[in-house]
Amino acid sequence: MILPEPLQNLVNAFERLPGIGPKSASRLAFYLLRDSSNLGQDLSDALDGFKEKLAFCQECFNITVAGREFCEICADSRRDASLICVVEDALDVLSLERTGGYQGKYHVLHGALSPIEGVGPDDLKIHSLLERAKNSDIKEIILATNPSMEGDATALYLSQRLGGFDLRVTRLARGLPVGGDLEYADQNTLLRALSGRQDMDF
Ligand SMILES: [Zn+2]
Repeated sequence: MILPEPLQNLVNAFERLPGIGPKSASRLAFYLLRDSSNLGQDLSDALDGFKEKLAFCQECFNITVAGREFCEICADSRRDASLICVVEDALDVLSLERTGGYQGKYHVLHGALSPIEGVGPDDLKIHSLLERAKNSDIKEIILATNPSMEGDATALYLSQRLGGFDLRVTRLARGLPVGGDLEYADQNTLLRALSGRQDMDF
């Protein structure tokens, strides 16, 4: 071991993060070592038990503070309760919220259907979505899964399952980079895809 153990441990931990190679990991660790602004302690405080302090919203399965039943969006009476936007991940909620162009509610599936990876309907928050769809206040469900093979397959499956309900089922307009992630789409592209959404044919 070239580095003293405490420093090496930090480098090893950084290296496990996505997109961080050995060089970047060392650079980050040395940056924290030299830093005089208490960043290391602030990071440590933020990381301490942060997972335990979070929970899933019991309505839409977005992330919320532990102990709260609903997330901020579900609890907000100004949001349009007749619209549900279905996304794969809570990060997608963040992307759509950043556009400022959506006033409805969400439903986070926590993944997409993928036979290759063994992800079936029961592994996603699909049953709870179908339960929500029974509410006659719901007028439209926007399928905003990623424009990837898995995302498209999930949207198709959901549109079939939702076919029997008295509501509109729409899909985000094309124009999002195919194979990409909502998360990486810029705000204007996302807004265009949202406003140009089309009814699903099934
Ligand atoms: Zn919620």
